[in-house]
Amino acid sequence: MPEITAEDEVVRLCQELIRIDSSNYGDGSGPGEAEAARYVVEQLREVGLEPRTFESAPRRVSVAVRIPGADPVRPGLCLHGHLDVVPAEAADWQVDPFSGELRDGCVWGRGAVDMKGMDAMILALVRENARAGVLPPRDLVVVFFADEEAGGEHGSQFMAQEHPEVFAGVSEAVSEVGGYSVTVPTPEGGRARAYLLQTAEKGIAWLTLRARGTAGHGSVPNDDNPIAHLAGAVARIADHEWPGQHIDSVRDLLAGLSRLTGIPVEDVEGLLATIPGAAGFVRGTLRDTSNPTVLSGGYKHNVVPQTATAAIDCRFLPGHEDDVMATIRELAGPHVEVEVHHRDIALETDLEGPLVEAMIAAIGAEDPGATVLPYCLSGGTDNKALATLGITGYGFAPLRLPEDLPFAPMFHGIDERVPVDALTFGVKVLRRLVATS
Ligand SMILES: [Zn+2]
Repeated sequence: MPEITAEDEVVRLCQELIRIDSSNYGDGSGPGEAEAARYVVEQLREVGLEPRTFESAPRRVSVAVRIPGADPVRPGLCLHGHLDVVPAEAADWQVDPFSGELRDGCVWGRGAVDMKGMDAMILALVRENARAGVLPPRDLVVVFFADEEAGGEHGSQFMAQEHPEVFAGVSEAVSEVGGYSVTVPTPEGGRARAYLLQTAEKGIAWLTLRARGTAGHGSVPNDDNPIAHLAGAVARIADHEWPGQHIDSVRDLLAGLSRLTGIPVEDVEGLLATIPGAAGFVRGTLRDTSNPTVLSGGYKHNVVPQTATAAIDCRFLPGHEDDVMATIRELAGPHVEVEVHHRDIALETDLEGPLVEAMIAAIGAEDPGATVLPYCLSGGTDNKALATLGITGYGFAPLRLPEDLPFAPMFHGIDERVPVDALTFGVKVLRRLVATS
């Protein structure tokens, strides 16, 4: 009997993970990750591995296992995924979002791309190596985190703060969101495939604007009205045109797309139009951003309240945090305080070094002629928490995608699905990467 390979199992693992509802509502009301963690533990134990589980709060469970490498002296590599998903509104979908249904060559369901597909690829590969007794070249620390979709307080942040020993000796990490392909037109009328390797991510500043004023009767003139102060501040912040400033990874991505397509590098919109499946992620990295997301204040038509508040979702590029905060405070004006509700760091590393070379070589071996380009993610990942331990993180969940698959919109969107071919491709690339890392 031939050994069971990762390719044989990856689709089943992905389907079974999708069928476990691990929706994260961000307020602790969801089912938690306990069930998904129990499933992962079973899959690891079945091949003789001994994972540890970490419960940060009731039913909020992360799983970790260390696989000793051939060279115990070299710094380790962390492969990680998150077990939670964002909620899904079933009525909007073509399939039951927790069915893991196979349809049109794809596995459908919440988490297919974010990120139970990659979880399944990691699990399948680790199981294959364990069955075959294959040692990774250096220690491999495999972690499945809880709570990524709410910022990681009960997952990666908890693990980094309370259980840093899990990551002892680890220098680099590989996870979402990158490694997927885009297909662009060439000047000769052909098509070229490029894989976007995530080397940077924006930082997060979720801000609360708090306007204070003088309460009073709605019929009395009032030039210290907090509703008016707040409305002005929100409008100024929303209207502010953040200057376009391309950090290295963005500049290198645009230059790479320009080389492939022949479109001038100055024509940013023209270049983005060649990668419709990923443009959503890239557009947010061309500048800092500040979106008002919640407004609240007042309680009766004829009462001027004492205070009013608004929420701003602010995302800053690496190195821009101080400038962005100063600008927001200035725009908010004298009557509106700016409070930081939640913040997290921006990340940036270079597209170089032995691990990056191993990623590029693994893609090159499985998709000859394809290009690898760096890019910055507009959102955040668990790599932020690992960065606090000095671990350099990359987004590299390799997927060779069909040209017409709207990839970025499926993250937190409807009809999330991943092609079966992309999962088996990803397993092949990850196998090479781990073997040469
Ligand atoms: Zn994710």
